[in-house]
Amino acid sequence: MDYRTYARGTEKISALGMGGEHWVGMPDGDVADIIHAAMGAGVNILDLFMPQPDVRSAIGRALKGRRSRMYIQGHLGATFQNGQYEKTRNIAQSKTAFDDLLARLDTDYIDFGMIHFVDTEAELADVFASGTMEMARTLKKSGVINRLGFSSHNPVIASKLVATGEFDLMMFSINAAWDMDSTHYEDLDAVIEFKAFTEGNVSVSGARAALYAQCANAGVGITVMKALGAGRLLHDATSPFGKAMTVGQCLRYALERPGVVSNLIGYRSVDEVNQAVQAQTESAEKSDYSALITSGRFTANGLCMYCNHCLPCPSMIDIAAVNKYLDLVPAGAPVPATVAAHYRALEHTADECVICGSCQEKCPFGVPVMRKMAEAAVLFGSR
Ligand code: SF4
Ligand code: SF4
Repeated sequence: MDYRTYARGTEKISALGMGGEHWVGMPDGDVADIIHAAMGAGVNILDLFMPQPDVRSAIGRALKGRRSRMYIQGHLGATFQNGQYEKTRNIAQSKTAFDDLLARLDTDYIDFGMIHFVDTEAELADVFASGTMEMARTLKKSGVINRLGFSSHNPVIASKLVATGEFDLMMFSINAAWDMDSTHYEDLDAVIEFKAFTEGNVSVSGARAALYAQCANAGVGITVMKALGAGRLLHDATSPFGKAMTVGQCLRYALERPGVVSNLIGYRSVDEVNQAVQAQTESAEKSDYSALITSGRFTANGLCMYCNHCLPCPSMIDIAAVNKYLDLVPAGAPVPATVAAHYRALEHTADECVICGSCQEKCPFGVPVMRKMAEAAVLFGSR
């Protein structure tokens, strides 16, 4: 298992994590089998947004004696009212649901207290106006929550939350198809349905790319939901690329975005755990997604997807990596030391570019690669 860190934290988080979204209605024994199989493979992070009491209890029983080996994302603002899941900013309801989570898990702390599902400007304002943020701060101060985080699907809103400097972790939806939708930030259903693709309005989302870079620079870790596009990317009939992606391609795509520490996958069975573990260790060749995601019809807007479809380069430059490090340097700002160190560790750097132009011809996203290499050579200097 690959373990990742993030600058604001000290935890070593497994690059493959889990979420329990499919465990509602499942027998206790099956939930325990899935959790134990994942832990046996090295998984050490679990997202627990689901407020359904019986699932919380089943998870608590499965984690008995193993609690300290699992980082838990517990959500503030997801409740179960009259038999129904509800998002809430009612403090009494949030607090009751959070206390219920602690009791059912038989624990006195949650590793990451996540403010649940902040997707619109109104919800963002409400997080602060309702007292939800204050409640989260108080829980952190008292040691019930170790770190603060939030979950969101909207890059514009998420960016504003990261900019507050209050959060260490962000749970965000990332996959290749959603990253090519730069229009439906406030309409989650449209994103889920890949509406940009049916509307013929597909281009790399600058806001999403900028958010990942912002997190990497701020040291905020990203845990990923929807890496498989709710399963729709895995089938020819539902993938907007016209061809199914493999689990390995989806996992790799998300892990290659800046700031990402873990893919949280909602396993339905032990078999699915084993499949994901195996997919995670696939060779780079097998999990290469570049040909697939570049086969669609989209507007090239010059933003790099780090897909490496432009290779081979006669100077052996890892063009995607150079572009990624370049994107991590905010305009006009000094080069962060960690980014400079990663760049210098590359086997071949941008100053080795011989301006042959072959990458630019092959890049389907219209990235001005030669100009980027020249920029990187100036910015990072030569070794
Ligand atoms: S320059 Fe183009 S082909 Fe190369 S990694 Fe970036 S998006 Fe992919
Ligand atoms: S233009 Fe530069 S980066 Fe692109 S393929 Fe040629 S040598 Fe490599």
